[in-house]
Amino acid sequence: MTHYQAPKGVFDILPSYCFDQPDLSIASFWQHLEANCRQIADLYAFEEIRTPIFEHTEVFTRSSGEASDIVSKEMYTFQDKGMRLVSLRPEGTAGVARAVNEHHLLRKQGSPKLFYIGPFFRYDRPQAGRYRQFHQFGAEWIGTKDPLADVQMITMLLHLYKNLGLKNLNLMINSVGDLPSRERYKKALIEFLIPFKTALSEESQARLDKNPLRILDSKDPKDQKIVASAPALTSFLSSEAADHFHQVCEGLKTLHIPFTISDRLVRGLDYYTHTVFEITIQDNLQAQNAIGAGGRYDHLLKDLGGVETPAFGFATGMERILLAMIAQQQLPLEKKGPKFFFIPLDASSQLTSLALSDQLRKTGFSAELYMKNFKIQKGLQQAYFSQAEYAVIIGESERNEQKVQIKNLLTKKECALSFETLIESAGDLTAHFA
Ligand code: AMP
Repeated sequence: MTHYQAPKGVFDILPSYCFDQPDLSIASFWQHLEANCRQIADLYAFEEIRTPIFEHTEVFTRSSGEASDIVSKEMYTFQDKGMRLVSLRPEGTAGVARAVNEHHLLRKQGSPKLFYIGPFFRYDRPQAGRYRQFHQFGAEWIGTKDPLADVQMITMLLHLYKNLGLKNLNLMINSVGDLPSRERYKKALIEFLIPFKTALSEESQARLDKNPLRILDSKDPKDQKIVASAPALTSFLSSEAADHFHQVCEGLKTLHIPFTISDRLVRGLDYYTHTVFEITIQDNLQAQNAIGAGGRYDHLLKDLGGVETPAFGFATGMERILLAMIAQQQLPLEKKGPKFFFIPLDASSQLTSLALSDQLRKTGFSAELYMKNFKIQKGLQQAYFSQAEYAVIIGESERNEQKVQIKNLLTKKECALSFETLIESAGDLTAHFA
C-alpha cells in the first residue's frame, strides 16, 4: 500500500498531543495567534473579508505585474474544466481589491477597512520559514490617501507583534513615489545600470528592462555592490510625493516608533506607490527574517476595472511570526483539556454519565466521556492524558445514591457530590473540596 505524504512545502496543523516540543504544526499556537490578529483588527476597527482561494489568473497578473517574481515564477496556475485560466492566490491584496470593486463596497462605506486571515500559495524553494502553502494576516484600508492612514496601519502591525511578545524588530520604510516620480527614477536607474549590465547577476540582467526596481533589493552580493552607488529613489520624488513621505515619517516620530529609511526598499510588486515598508526580526529565522510588509497602492483598484481609489495595506506571514515566537519563547505550551472527564464503571452508569455530561455541556461546561471500558485506572490515565480538570466517577453505588465521586486532577483531592450540586455549582467547585 502506498503511504501518502503531504506534498513538499506544505504541512499539517495537528493537535498539541502530537508534540513534546514547540513546533509550527501545533494547532493551539495557531489559535493563539489568530485570536491576537482578530483582537488587533477589532481595536483598529477593521472588518473581516474572506475571498476565494483561487481567482482568475488575470486578477494577479494585472495587479502584481507580469514581471514580478510571484507572477512570473511562483504562481500555481491551471486551466479548469471550463478552460478558464485560474490561479491559487499568491497574495491577498488583489483578491480584496477585486471584491471591493465587484461588490461596490466603496458606495456602501466610503473607506472600507478590511482584514483577512488565510492560506496563500507560492511555488518557491521550500526551506525553514518559506513554504508553498503559508498563511497571512493582512489588512487593507481602501479609500483614503491620508499619510496618517499609512502611519496607523504600520502601527497596527507593530502593535500585533508587541502583543505577541516579539522583540528585536526593525521597521524599514521608503517611498517609491507616485507614478511620474517612479518613471523618472526607472529611467535614471536603467541609465546607471547599463554600463554594469554584464557584471549583474543573470536574474538582474533579465530584470533590467522589465522590472529594474527589483534589482535594488536583489540578494546577490554582485548586484548589491553595484546598486550601492545607484541614485536614490527619494531624490526623484515629486514635491507631492516627498510631502506625503515626510508626513508619514512625522507621524511615526509622533508615536515614538523607531524606523530606518531604506532607499533600496522597493518591494516586488508593480502596484505600490508612495510608502512601502518592511519589518524584519533578528532572531533565528534561518535567513527568512522578513515577517511583515506592505505599502500604499493608489492605482490598483482602477487597474482592476474600478475607479481610481487610494489604499494602503499590509500582510504578515503567520509561520514566520510563530517561528519568531518559538525562538523568543513567547508561546504558551499548556494544553487546555475538558473541565469534566466522566468515568462510568458499568453500562447503566455510562447512560447516567451521558445524561450528566450532556447537561453540563448545555450549561457551557466542557465534558468528555470515557467509553473504552469500565476500568477506573484506565479511565483515570486517559483523564490525565486529556488534561481534564476533574475526573467524575460513577459506579453502581454512586448511581443508587444519585451521587458522583469527583477528583480534582491537579490537587488529587476527592469528594462526593449529588447530581444536582455537580450541575448547579459546576462553575466553581472549590468549596466542596475544603
Ligand atoms: P510578501 O507579499 O512577499 O511581502 O509577503 C508578506 C509576508 O508573508 C512576508 O513578510 C512573509 O512573512 C510571508 N511570506 C511570504 N512568502 C512566504 C512563504 N513562501 N512562506 C512563508 N511565509 C511567506
